[in-house]
Amino acid sequence: PAQIVWFRRDLRVRDHPALAAAAAAGDVLPLFIIDPAFEGAGVPRSQALRLALEALRSATDGALVIRRGSPEQIIPELVREVDAGAVHISGETTPGGRRRDARVARALEEFDVPLVPTGTPYAVSPGRVRKGDGDPFRVFTPFFRAWREHGWRAPAQMPERWRWVRSIESEDLPEERETDARLEWAAEPQALKRWQEFLEEPINDYDAARDRPDLDGTSRMSIGLKFGTVHPRTLLADLEDAAPHRSPAARQSFTRFQAELAWREFYADVLWHHPASAWQDYGDQLRAMPYEEPGEEFDAWRAGRTGFPMVDAGMRQLLGEGWMHNRVRMLTASFMTKDLHLWWPHGAKHFLQHLADGDLASNNHGWQWVAGTGTDASPYFRVFNPVLQGQKFDPRGDYVRRWVPELRHLAGAAVHEPWKHEDGYSHGYPQRIVDHAEERREALSRLEAAKA
Ligand code: FAD
Repeated sequence: PAQIVWFRRDLRVRDHPALAAAAAAGDVLPLFIIDPAFEGAGVPRSQALRLALEALRSATDGALVIRRGSPEQIIPELVREVDAGAVHISGETTPGGRRRDARVARALEEFDVPLVPTGTPYAVSPGRVRKGDGDPFRVFTPFFRAWREHGWRAPAQMPERWRWVRSIESEDLPEERETDARLEWAAEPQALKRWQEFLEEPINDYDAARDRPDLDGTSRMSIGLKFGTVHPRTLLADLEDAAPHRSPAARQSFTRFQAELAWREFYADVLWHHPASAWQDYGDQLRAMPYEEPGEEFDAWRAGRTGFPMVDAGMRQLLGEGWMHNRVRMLTASFMTKDLHLWWPHGAKHFLQHLADGDLASNNHGWQWVAGTGTDASPYFRVFNPVLQGQKFDPRGDYVRRWVPELRHLAGAAVHEPWKHEDGYSHGYPQRIVDHAEERREALSRLEAAKA
């Protein structure tokens, strides 16, 4: 009988265990459901989804079926229509996704058709790696060690020839959205091409270059990983194959890259065990912290008009490109939580709206890490200095000039301190909205009060 593969965060045909399982059992009906729940996503993520689906439609030789509506209605209808033997999925691990899958499994019970999960969007499925006593990890480094020891499967073998079910009509792809965001790596072939190019050479310097937003020193795999157009297992296997042929310094970069992939897995594990930490403080340490309500300063932060060049460059990169460099994600998040004294979910929501790679687990726990409310809590008293961060990680000022045209007339690192230059504000760049030294003191005194 026909096998339905319901695609979600796994929009690819390579290294896809659920698709392989379906193909081994019969003809495959590839399905994607545009769930009304997805409509909250911003323009970059919606358009990225469209690109990923276009590629999936070609990869399935046009057989991909698109439907709109609630999965627990659509799937039983299709099961009846094609007399399907099973519905295959990559297991979902987010709180909302798990609830939805449980509803679909229940709706399928009356047809006696199983919802079969094979694999997840992670190399090691969330919930698998645990401490000796069975408890989940709360700190990254021991998680990373245990995760490596646990290991992962080899990439899935896919069939040489596909047999698709073709008798079913499809609705249209999601509509095309106008955006300047950089989304080309959302589709499977482009994501793999980018990865091969990165693996060829740039990855050798990753350890040093990854902190420099002025360079193209990171993989840009986050968007492919978000939509599952690449699987981390594929990346990990390629790293393993390439490592023996590289220098010791390059191998250090490989380990660093592996650790960054493990951060993604760690945060998914944290969310799996603590679904409430998606939108509430993970830890109790700052429960009594007094916060401000978002107002004009929050608006200035969102628009990239705080008067702090490195912060503004980051916020404008987010709006322009649908992506922000990790170093600057940390800095802008620190500025919102510690200089403006706002609770982290306000910023997390804004990021999710605009990031093409916006991911509940990585984003919201990344925010909590910076805010000092999360796992591994970075000590709350570590407040990023926006000027020093700029001078250190954008030493020539190129990143700021790329995103802040009002400062392009300043040469080199001068862009980081327009207030020191007579013509610093001659092209309309805004004055600083706060005094960083003062807000740092304020953040620390709030902390003392919260602890007392
Ligand atoms: P690379 O440096 O090439 O890293 C390779 C991969 O490792 C990334 O694609 C990503 O999957 C993973 N990774 C790297 N760093 C982290 C990290 N700190 N946490 C989790 N995974 C990581 N990442 C997202 O994918 N989606 C988000 O919504 C998101 N929001 C973030 C919000 C904040 C406040 C912070 C501090 C970080 C956030 N990150 C998020 C993590 C990180 O910034 C991005 O994964 C990274 O910038 C993506 O670029 P890249 O693929 O070139 O990264």
